[in-house]
Amino acid sequence: MPNRRTETRHATPGNTCNHFQKYGMTCDDFDRLLARAAGRCELCETPEGETPRGALVIDHFQGDGLFFVRGLICDRCNSVMSRHDRSAAWGPASLPWADKARAYHLAAFEQPTPEEFEQADRYIASRRTYNVKDRHYIPVAPRAALVVRLDRSMTEAARKLRRHLTDRQRARLIELLSRPL
Ligand SMILES: [Zn+2]
Ligand SMILES: [Zn+2]
Repeated sequence: MPNRRTETRHATPGNTCNHFQKYGMTCDDFDRLLARAAGRCELCETPEGETPRGALVIDHFQGDGLFFVRGLICDRCNSVMSRHDRSAAWGPASLPWADKARAYHLAAFEQPTPEEFEQADRYIASRRTYNVKDRHYIPVAPRAALVVRLDRSMTEAARKLRRHLTDRQRARLIELLSRPL
């Protein structure tokens, strides 16, 4: 059985390979993946040394109980795949890669069954991508210091506080003022 002590071929001495620790992939499987990628990003085909970080990463799909390694890709394509998986919304830079991302997904290294691919698609479709427009509006307290003169009318002080505090801050202030000393 492959274990932490046997799967060490691609790690520094005394360590277990990352592909085994994080993805449960044996050294033999990882060698097959390296051979398939042949030194290039499997999505955009950029040679490893010319990719933004100069290194390829293991990409996997995860969700709804599914977990499978798809391949070796560059950082840029990793973010394209997060669009494919709908954990982020497509943008002008990623959209031209949509078809290639799809083909790459379907050519996943750890070949899932057709049923598992369908399950993955249902899961992806059920996801709601994060969109700034949908963000719940949270009032932000003004950054500038607020000076309230207490040697003047209390009505004026209250009016000023009401204008500058959020509902939550106001409620908290009332609560604090109502506490026995
Ligand atoms: Zn290894
Ligand atoms: Zn790439």
